Amino acid sequence: MKLKLENIHKSFGATKVLNGISLDVAQGEMVCLIGPSGSGKSTLLRCLNLLDPVDDGNIWLDGEEIADPSLDPQPIRQRIGIVFQSFNLFPHMTAEENVMLAPRRIFNKSRDALMPQVEALFEKFGLKERMHHYPDQLSGGQQQRVAIARALAMNPEIMLFDEITSALDPELVGEVLQVLSSLKQDGMTMILATHEMAFARDVADRVCFLDKGQILEQGAPAQIFSHPKEARTRDFLARVL
Ligand code: ADP
Ligand code: MG
Repeated sequence: MKLKLENIHKSFGATKVLNGISLDVAQGEMVCLIGPSGSGKSTLLRCLNLLDPVDDGNIWLDGEEIADPSLDPQPIRQRIGIVFQSFNLFPHMTAEENVMLAPRRIFNKSRDALMPQVEALFEKFGLKERMHHYPDQLSGGQQQRVAIARALAMNPEIMLFDEITSALDPELVGEVLQVLSSLKQDGMTMILATHEMAFARDVADRVCFLDKGQILEQGAPAQIFSHPKEARTRDFLARVL
């Protein structure tokens, strides 16, 4: 897997939200996007998942151009999983049914055929006992782990996470970050928008500081957090650290 973004531009009406974003992501890399509210982190992830069309620029996934609006986005979206702050589990379905839904429909597989993989995901995420619970019987941290399992059940090549711990009670954040660490150990390629600076510092391979729709600076976490080059990065870090 190799992902390449080149000079992505995106506006909403007169508001320029992404202003020339270029980024290369290698197989197995964890890239954290940090930056002030409104800097374009969510929009960038939504463009990558083809939920929002880009106005200009290119996105390549393994050398294949994916941002071309004339392409069918569905097969590409299957290769790029996304998890949001709000878990959006279907309330009338059990955890297992939520996780099974997309692969059953899209791969046309039976529940029995999918069960070994789905059970393994629940086991791995410490949710084996919760498979047959409904979302309102689960904590926020458990629901978010189910939402991650649901995205992984499609066997994506890359995972995008948008502030997935921001809606959680503080004591539940750790169990979700733990899942991300374990995915990284498995070699999953990931891009995260996050406010969890300690996590970004400890686990990310690379940190990108977004400001006004641009990557103002990027580098290894130690460099960005300890020796930021840009005044705006320093100001931001002084406010959040
Ligand atoms: P971040 O995730 O870094 O907080 P966003 O990507 O959510 O930033 O937002 C960047 C800017 O784009 C904000 O000014 C926001 O108001 C605007 N924006 C985002 N989505 C839309 C939309 N669907 N319509 C209009 N403006 C939007
Ligand atoms: Mg956001």
